[in-house]
Amino acid sequence: MGILQGKRILVAGVTMDSSIGFAVARTAQEEGARVVISNFGRALGITRRIAGRLPEEAPVVELDVTDEDHLAALPDRLGEHLDGLDGVVHSIAYGNPETTLGGKFLTAPWPDVAQALQVSAFSLKSLTAASLPLLSSGSSVVGLTFDATVAWPAYDWMGVAKAGLESCARYLARDLGPRGVRVNLVAAGPLKTLAAKAIPGFDGLESMWSDRAPLGWDEQDTTPAARAVVALLSDFFPATTGEIVHVDGGYHAQGA
Ligand code: NAP
Repeated sequence: MGILQGKRILVAGVTMDSSIGFAVARTAQEEGARVVISNFGRALGITRRIAGRLPEEAPVVELDVTDEDHLAALPDRLGEHLDGLDGVVHSIAYGNPETTLGGKFLTAPWPDVAQALQVSAFSLKSLTAASLPLLSSGSSVVGLTFDATVAWPAYDWMGVAKAGLESCARYLARDLGPRGVRVNLVAAGPLKTLAAKAIPGFDGLESMWSDRAPLGWDEQDTTPAARAVVALLSDFFPATTGEIVHVDGGYHAQGA
């Protein structure tokens, strides 16, 4: 029996089979979960095709985390496929690569910064609050961060957004703990996904990572991060909330 046997999970933010969310959906199914995936806009068609590459084709619902109508409709849209939720995965980020990433820290205009913060940080609150009517005690919310305790080359306003996401997770943990809902993040090392490829200069970080991480690092392999997300969704972390689990080959623990 898998560690998510019988659990009902929403994975928000799946575009390609390279997406971390895809690996989470696949691993969750392998561990016995029923999974619904979401994406938005023009990429929805791609997500529908990609859903067929999972071990079991997953239903796809439309969710733009900045759209109040989509958020309000989420329980009904999920209700067409699942009779409740035991877990929600936030695998969503966006910053305009022309203005907010890749060395544009000092010149990024506020509307673009605001968009990055809304989509990448505030949306953890939006998605969790929208899902709350379906979440019962014992449920788990898991998001994905890139260690925001330090500044990185090229990451710029996404780094600031991730700092906001990490803080947001702690406040959600505070407010949802009394309902028995846990909120945690996985801090993954650099992975070659669509989002990462869009960051000018992020690839320099990837080669350095594999040299310095004690366990080494394969930037093509999203499975370790996905397995950690699935572990946090499971009943094996019943007393853990407001936590950030590093899945980075041990890079964060090394000074040089
Ligand atoms: P990805 O495949 O591009 O996933 C990001 C997802 O966010 C995409 O499905 C994207 O949809 C979606 N998204 C963007 N704006 C949205 C909105 N307004 N509403 C709903 N969904 C929206 O890249 P990924 O690397 O797997 O990213 C998943 C998460 O892991 C992100 O939080 C990312 O910051 C985090 N992470 C990534 C790395 C890395 O090195 N790749 C490392 C640590 C953490 P579209 O494709 O349609 O825009």
